[in-house]
Order: sequence, then C-alpha cells, then structure tokens
Amino acid sequence: MKALVKTQKGKGFVELLEVPEPTINDNEVLIEIKACGVCGTDLHIYNDEFPYYPPVILGHEFTGVIKEVGKNINTWEPGDKVVGEPHTKACGNCYLCRTGNPQVCLAKRSPGWGIDGAFAPFMKFPDTHLLHSIPDNMSFKAAALVEPLANVVTDIVLTKVIIPGDIVVVAGPGPIGIMAALVAKHVGAGKVIMLGTNDDEEIRLKLCRELPAIDISINVQKENAKEIIHGITKGIGCDVFVEASGAAPAITLGAELVKKMGKISAIGLTGKEKIEFPYNMLMMKSIEYYFNISTKYDSWDRAIQFLDKGVIPYEKLITHSASIDQWKNVFDDLFSRKGMKAIFEF
Ligand SMILES: [Zn+2]
Ligand SMILES: [Zn+2]
Repeated sequence: MKALVKTQKGKGFVELLEVPEPTINDNEVLIEIKACGVCGTDLHIYNDEFPYYPPVILGHEFTGVIKEVGKNINTWEPGDKVVGEPHTKACGNCYLCRTGNPQVCLAKRSPGWGIDGAFAPFMKFPDTHLLHSIPDNMSFKAAALVEPLANVVTDIVLTKVIIPGDIVVVAGPGPIGIMAALVAKHVGAGKVIMLGTNDDEEIRLKLCRELPAIDISINVQKENAKEIIHGITKGIGCDVFVEASGAAPAITLGAELVKKMGKISAIGLTGKEKIEFPYNMLMMKSIEYYFNISTKYDSWDRAIQFLDKGVIPYEKLITHSASIDQWKNVFDDLFSRKGMKAIFEF
C-alpha cells in the first residue's frame, strides 16, 4: 500500500512510499481508513518541531471501518465505523493513566508520530478501548474532524472556561480556532470575536465573516483590536481569550485584551522551545491560564454529538479533500495558509 512516511529526523524527509499492509495480533484491530485530516501537528512534524519516532506513517485524525479484529477482541466487529483517541501505548499504570489522563502518559505513542498512522489505506490499532463508534449516518468527512474538535472540547468545554453570556475572543482563524469559536457560541458565549492577520484575510477571515456564530472578525494588522474590544466591553476587556494561533504577538495581545480575573485557554502550539510571555501582566490581572495538550475521554462523544447536531459546518471548513498522491500540494497550501482543513480520502 502507498503510505506517507516521515523517514528520518530533520526538516522535510516526508515521502510517499510503498509499504507492506499491516498485519494484526490477537489484541489489535485492522482499520480500513476512509479519511484522515491533516493536522498542524503533521506540519510541525514535517518541520521537525514535534517529537516523533521515524520511520513512521503520519496521520492521526482518522476515521474508517474495522476490517479485521484480533482473537481477543470482543468489543468490536468488522464493519463498525470508528474514530479513535490517539493515546495508544499509554502504560495504564502511571499516576496519569490511573487518574484518567493517558493523553499525557510518558509512554504514549500516538498513531502518526509514535506508531504508524493513518495516511495510508490501512492502519492497525492497538488499545481498542480508545475507539469510539460514529453514527451510521455521519459522513467520513465529518468524522475526520472528531479528533481536532475533541481537542477544542477538551480546552474550552471540559475546562468550563465559558459561562453563558461571556464575551469570547479567539485568536487564529484556522480550523481549530474556528471550531473553538463555533463551540464557544454553542455553549453560550454572548459574543464571539475572531482575530486574524493579513495572511488569513483571503480565505480564513472571509469564512469567519460568513459564519453567523462569529459576531465580529478583526484583521489585527488593519484594525485596532484593543480599541474595538475596549469599546464592546466598556473598557473592561473580554471574559475569555482563546489562543489558537501559537503566535507570540497573539499570546501577548490576549493578555492585553482579557479582563482582570478573566480566563485564557491556550490551544495553539508555538513550535518553539521558548517565547516571550507577558508574565507580569497576567499576574497583575489575576488571569486563570489553562494549558491542555491533546484530548480527554469526555470530549470525544461530545465532539461526535456536536458534529452530528450540525454545530460545525464541516463542509465549509474542509477546503481540500485530496488523494494521498497530492500530499505535497496539500502541505504547501497549508503552509502558505491557502486552505483551511485538509483531509486525505481513501
Ligand atoms: Zn490533530
Ligand atoms: Zn501511563
């Protein structure tokens, strides 16, 4: 089968290779992949900015149909439509696993960076308790968004950062930022404001302006976000700031925009070891800052439900649904922000 592989450490080294189809042991299932989203993480791995264990098939935002089940598996059957939490190989014994947090277990090796992932027609999946069924009527395109949406749900729903009526500012109108804005409105935000830059203008901010859930979209390089949000909040500042850009200037701007005693949820990865951080300002404003990586169990069925209920207009978010042969063009478009969400279909 053809698979997109990160072949060795360093920048680049991603190749479409012919590899053997995986075979499963008694405790695994074989999944026929139907769709797999391209994540910011995949781009970070391309650029050598995220941990990974090469050679490894990329892709963790998968959905598909179970093709074959190992002898010891009695919870799944061939034909089941699934998505899966990427917390494979978590040990189950450490204090993190025992407290329900396998997403940060040191032993975790996710598909797509730690074990072979889903940028291929088939993937074997250990730890089948991590799989979730998707509704029969849900399209694979929609289901490919469950994993990134589960991240958003972990970061802004399970944390309870949003109280109905809150004024929520989101920075970074990529797929995660837009889903965060949509979910914020769905769970009761009074007003949702999106911040982007010149690079986002053509595709991303344009889409934001078409989405009724996003009340105001601001290009921070053309308009004064501080003045606008100051005006809307009568000088107080926004209740919640959601950082989905990973850009240092946005992280500082968020500290300036949020009200005293307000909340900030960090979702974006910076791709850098250290960045400038407005520590004193956050201290003086008594800000609650939420850091979360990956997803928690509770976020998955909620994400599936949100997609099923139409909270996320996924057709509008998916700008590229391509075959794996077109991976280079897709990656290039995403690097230059000429797209929104890309998925590979099999
Ligand atoms: Zn992802
Ligand atoms: Zn563990």
